[in-house]
Amino acid sequence: MAGGEFALIDRYFTHSPFGQWISQGVGDDCALIDVGGVRMAVTTDMMSIGTHFFPDAKPRNVGHKALATNLSDLAAAGASPRAFFLSIALPEADAVWLSEFSAGLMDLAHRYDCALLGGDTVRTVKVNGVQAPHTISITAIGELAPGLGLMRSGAHINDDIWVSGTLGGPFAVVEKRYGIWNVPQGEAYVRAEKELDIPEPRIALGQELLRVATACADISDGFLQDLGHILDRSGVAAEIELNRIPMHEVLKEISSNQAMQAALSGGDDYELVWTAPVSAREQIQAMSQRLNLPLTRVGRVVERNQENQSFRLLDVTGQPVEVNFTGFDHFG
Ligand code: ADP
Ligand code: MG
Repeated sequence: MAGGEFALIDRYFTHSPFGQWISQGVGDDCALIDVGGVRMAVTTDMMSIGTHFFPDAKPRNVGHKALATNLSDLAAAGASPRAFFLSIALPEADAVWLSEFSAGLMDLAHRYDCALLGGDTVRTVKVNGVQAPHTISITAIGELAPGLGLMRSGAHINDDIWVSGTLGGPFAVVEKRYGIWNVPQGEAYVRAEKELDIPEPRIALGQELLRVATACADISDGFLQDLGHILDRSGVAAEIELNRIPMHEVLKEISSNQAMQAALSGGDDYELVWTAPVSAREQIQAMSQRLNLPLTRVGRVVERNQENQSFRLLDVTGQPVEVNFTGFDHFG
């Protein structure tokens, strides 16, 4: 499932470990770095208007989401947010845009007690008459107890595969806004819009999963693609029962093929996907109650077959089905 973006990272930006700090290196949602008696989880994500946001996105939502996507990576590691750095490139110093952006950003930062400790601000220019878009890069740092932290490696054969919340709602909204899909705009649509525009990072869930999950990732680029990273880094495969996938309610209102595409490979869910031993089922169900968040078992970890395939997708009757959806890939 590795597309152009991940082949590019592998080829140019993945090196054998060096330097004095101990970490697992490139390839997880966060690098886990042991310094002194502390383990830090560090992640960075960049977003541009036009690529990650619609050109008319509300600046308050842009501020929220730019930080939320980074906090979602901290959640995938089970880390507690502590601090972040903000780099921003702007075509102009628009006071209204900036005050709204910073309100959205700082509301979320305060809610998670995650302090802004630095950054960089630059002005973008026109090149050959074309204005570069607003671009925001955030580096977030979280804290973990020494020796703890979730990674994408660690899934074992026979582990269950779980996912939080529901999938596919935000993608249905994107397709509707582009005018590609016809999606009725009822209550479920409004909820999906909120999930797309102001996603809530699953920080509390990630912290609870520290005790039970064997591997974890957040779903930013599509369920199959992000689970695929767990499978690749763990050297295993997944058997997924498609009728168990927690489909967003808005998907009931579109064709089943579109619904499946949105849930399996639409991006922007910002839910967590993880593996855990069968013995953890009751604990995970109790977490779901405590957090008031659906947590759904969608399949299990199996050995890779001779063709080295990552996925076996099963229909209601347990028969294998083929899908040709892939997740989001910036260079795909
Ligand atoms: P995420 O969506 O959780 O931010 P991805 O799955 O997109 O992460 O990225 C895969 C891995 O590649 C991550 O560990 C990320 O930190 C790393 N990565 C992406 N781009 C670069 C880069 N330019 N240099 C070094 N590492 C990178
Ligand atoms: Mg991630």
